[in-house]
Amino acid sequence: MKKAVVRGECQAAVVEAPELTPVENWVVVKVHAAPMCAEYKSFVAGTPTAVLGHEAAGEVVAVAQPGKVKVGDRVVAMPLYGCGRCALCHSGDYIHCQQQPDFVAATGQSEGQATMAQYILKQDWLLMPLPDGVPYERGALACCGIGPSFGALQSMGVSAFDTLLITGLGPVGLGAIVNARFRGTRVIAVETVPWRAERALAMGAAAVIDPRDEGVLAQILELTGGRGVDCALDCSGNVQAERLCVDATRRKGKVAFVGECYDDLHLQISPDMIRKGLTLLGSWHYNLNEYPKIMQVIQESPLLDQLISHVMPLSEIQAAFELSASHETAKIVLQPWTSGEHT
Ligand SMILES: [Zn+2]
Ligand SMILES: [Zn+2]
Repeated sequence: MKKAVVRGECQAAVVEAPELTPVENWVVVKVHAAPMCAEYKSFVAGTPTAVLGHEAAGEVVAVAQPGKVKVGDRVVAMPLYGCGRCALCHSGDYIHCQQQPDFVAATGQSEGQATMAQYILKQDWLLMPLPDGVPYERGALACCGIGPSFGALQSMGVSAFDTLLITGLGPVGLGAIVNARFRGTRVIAVETVPWRAERALAMGAAAVIDPRDEGVLAQILELTGGRGVDCALDCSGNVQAERLCVDATRRKGKVAFVGECYDDLHLQISPDMIRKGLTLLGSWHYNLNEYPKIMQVIQESPLLDQLISHVMPLSEIQAAFELSASHETAKIVLQPWTSGEHT
């Protein structure tokens, strides 16, 4: 089979990899759509990697034993793995499983983890049904396209009564606009890249503020009658944006973080949390029991097409990474089985 690799600084290629064999409840899925996420970072940094991608939709093509899926099923593959036995896995929060299986030890194979490939191996219970009529490219948005922000908005109880601040309008932040607008929520966003700001406005954001402007916090307060936003969601992973979320959220409001960040966020418990009554929460994925609702967003939101800016064959991986690194995109979806001109 074919799969994508990063060979060096701004160098990507498609290479041959061994075929996969189903083992126990690990089934083989033929990948028809593999959205790109933050993999461009290793492309830009020049970190060689042969495991690219964690988002996919496709078709079950081989199973080792009767189980939760059968050959021919159209599915969305959830990211990562879980033990399938602990309380977190049973409750649908498998992404936080503390006994995540070692892929190579569990499958006896080194290939099959990366979704930027023609096939993957996945535990059958992490393959969610893709309804008839939903194209693979759209279904695959139930991974990081709209998944993390859906989980965060559910946890914060965001509704049509709220104004939501979204910091960072990469594909996850733009996905947050899809979820927010589906709920009738007013959106104020913060983003530096003009392409993304324009896309956000086209998708219904009420305002997009450049964080390099003077008085960003003052602008947000002015847009909210001096109170601050009801809820905030950081999708940037930038510590200044995280701090802005805390400052711009009203008393008794809620702030969720989905952008990965390893920098220190300065917080003072009394003024920032106790006196303000703020709720802070981290959100990685979403509870699997919410999958039908995610699929409802995918089927009914008029903004889905704007969240997918490019659909490209895997064979054009070099151009796809260059585009992804340019930041002038929403979600880029790779197709491992098509060839020719991209759209
Ligand atoms: Zn588990
Ligand atoms: Zn992702």
